[in-house]
Formats: sequence, structure tokens, C-alpha cells
Amino acid sequence: MSDRSTTPVLRAAVSDLPGYVPGRPAETALTAALAANESHYDPLPSVLRIVQSVAGRMNRYPDMSATALRERIADYNSVALDEVAVGPGSVGVLQQIIQALCDQGDEIVFAWRSFEAYPILVRLAGAVPVPVPLAPDESHDLDAMLVAITARTKIVILCTPNNPTGVAINHEALERFLVQVPAHVLVVIDEAYVEYVSAADSFAATDLYRRFPNVCILRTFSKAYGLAGLRVGFAIVRPHLAEGLRRVAIPFGVTALAQGAAIASLDAQSEIRDRVEFVVAERRRIIENVRSFGLDVPKSQANFIWLRTVEPTREKLIRAFADADVLVRSYVGDGVRISLADPMTNDRFVHVLGAFQHAARSLG
Ligand SMILES: *Cc1c(COP(=O)(O)O)cnc(C)c1O
Repeated sequence: MSDRSTTPVLRAAVSDLPGYVPGRPAETALTAALAANESHYDPLPSVLRIVQSVAGRMNRYPDMSATALRERIADYNSVALDEVAVGPGSVGVLQQIIQALCDQGDEIVFAWRSFEAYPILVRLAGAVPVPVPLAPDESHDLDAMLVAITARTKIVILCTPNNPTGVAINHEALERFLVQVPAHVLVVIDEAYVEYVSAADSFAATDLYRRFPNVCILRTFSKAYGLAGLRVGFAIVRPHLAEGLRRVAIPFGVTALAQGAAIASLDAQSEIRDRVEFVVAERRRIIENVRSFGLDVPKSQANFIWLRTVEPTREKLIRAFADADVLVRSYVGDGVRISLADPMTNDRFVHVLGAFQHAARSLG
């Protein structure tokens, strides 16, 4: 009999992890749930119908190579089938990318503050996170990111528009950056919110992808397409790399429901576009409102608003939102992110913020 006083232990990379903190779900129907960037619209009827019909075949495995979906994505983005890899959410695809490219000790550069999943996925893979602080205007400090690249760097992740600040990288800055990045470094452009971008200086990532073989575009059906609960995202990347992503993917990781819903969503472009336009108009309205309180919020290009705060203002603000049953996302030391929803819910957020500002000013 072997010694029974010990127990299996987790790898240090796992036990040391802080763990992903999801947006808290609403506790009651009256709660304004503005802590997650998912779509607040109900599923489109055409998409729901497909999901319901596919559900009748859940005893079967899905198409492992998701060929029909990848064909649609390839068509839609004017690339070839073998340049598309899919996965369970774009976070799943990003995990595939890291696993396919990084050995122990390899470095991954990303801006900070940015998407919380980045440092977690990097550490889990045994790679080394190299966070580069955002510039004072909340944009990616691309010059500093260039300096952070070493011989060990395998990947640079750019999040545009950035979660949680909403700021997008402009075209010229990105092009200048790509020209200077060493060719062995994969530049992952995480465009989870690309559908919401309205800025004139935005870029078409597919143009850059064609010019720079080390660019990888990362997209998701979780946000504007409203399929967060079905888990499907994709990468557009050179064929040998896309093949690598498929090799490290969990087999059958994208369900038939998700594949069917994603295809149906691509078929519903005009409805999706209407929804996105509405969110963009709300964004404009809410930012104007917030600025009228004397608050300097960045020009968000996503479906959320960013309030940078110092301590202890953030804590007080969070308490004010909680007292009003408005759920927002709080980032210790950095600020508060508020997702956009329907106009009435957005107004509740604006109202709490206005009252908070007023009280803070009167307190001097
Ligand atoms: C929401 C989000 C994703 C996508 O997540 P899924 O896994 O596709 O649901 C990717 N990147 C960023 C920056 C996000 O905010």
C-alpha cells in the first residue's frame, strides 16, 4: 500500500491563477444587468428555428471540421476555407493559438488593462505574459509594445476595440506597427467587437491580413451576433497555422447547434446590422449624457462605456450602482465598465451616475 497521506496536486500554473471573473448574472428581473458585453437582444427567430431543428439530432456528433460554417466564414471574408479555424468561442480559439505556438517560457505581449482571459490563458500554457500599460488616452501603446518584443516573443495580442476601455486602434498606427513587428511573431487582432466600430479611421483587418502573413484575425459570434451561450468563434490565419489550430482543438468542440446558429446568423446580416446600428446610436447618446456630467469618457467603439476611476471613488461608485440595482463590471485600481442594453436600462445607469456626480461635486 502506498502512502495515503498525500494527495494529487495541481500544477503551480493552475493553483496560482486568480481565475476568470465573469460578469455577475442578474439576481432579479428588475436588475439592470450591465456587467457583461453580451447582446441584450433576444435570439433572432430565424436562428432560433435552426437551433430547434438541429437539437433533434443531438445524439449525433457534429461535423468535426465544421466545413459548412467555415465555408460561409471564408466566403464572407473573401479568404479560402483552409484559412479559417473555428473553436468554442474566440477564447477557445485563442487557447488553440497559444497552445499551437508557445512552449514553456515563450512570451506573449498584450496591452493592459485589456481582456482578463489573456493573462490566464498565457499562464496556463506555461508561457510568460508581458503586459504593456495602455497609453494615457487609453489607446494601445504600440511603440512600447514593439519594445517589449524579444527573441522569446511568439505572439502579440491586440484587442481592438479594447475590452474594457472601448478604444479602437487606428489604421495608420496599426500599419506602422505591423511593418516593424518581426516576421516570426504572430499578431493576433482580437476583434470581438468589430461589428460596433463606426470610427472613420478604422481598418479592415482582412486587408492587413493579406499584406502581413503574420497577422491572425480573431472574431466571435458571442457579441453582435448574440450567440454567447452557444460558444463559437473563429480565426482567419495562414493555412499552415489554421491547420495547427485544428490539430490542438478539442474534437467536436463546436456543437452542431452552434455551427447551425452561426450560419443562420450570417444569413441574417441585415437584421444583425439593424441591431448593431441601434446600439451604436445608444452609445452616442449615452456618451453625450455622461460627458454632460463633466466626465471624460473615451470614445468607445464597442457596446460598452468605460469610466476610469481612482480609489476609493470606484468603490463608492460601485456601491451607488449596487444600491440602485444596476450591475456593472468593476476593475480594482482601474475603473468601471458599463455594457449597453435597451434605452430604459441605459437611462437607469445614466441616472445613477448623474446623481453620483452631483453629490460628489457638492461634497467638494
Ligand atoms: C467577449 C470577448 C471575446 C469572445 O469571447 P467568446 O469566447 O467568443 O465568447 C474575445 N475577446 C474579447 C476581448 C472579448 O471581450
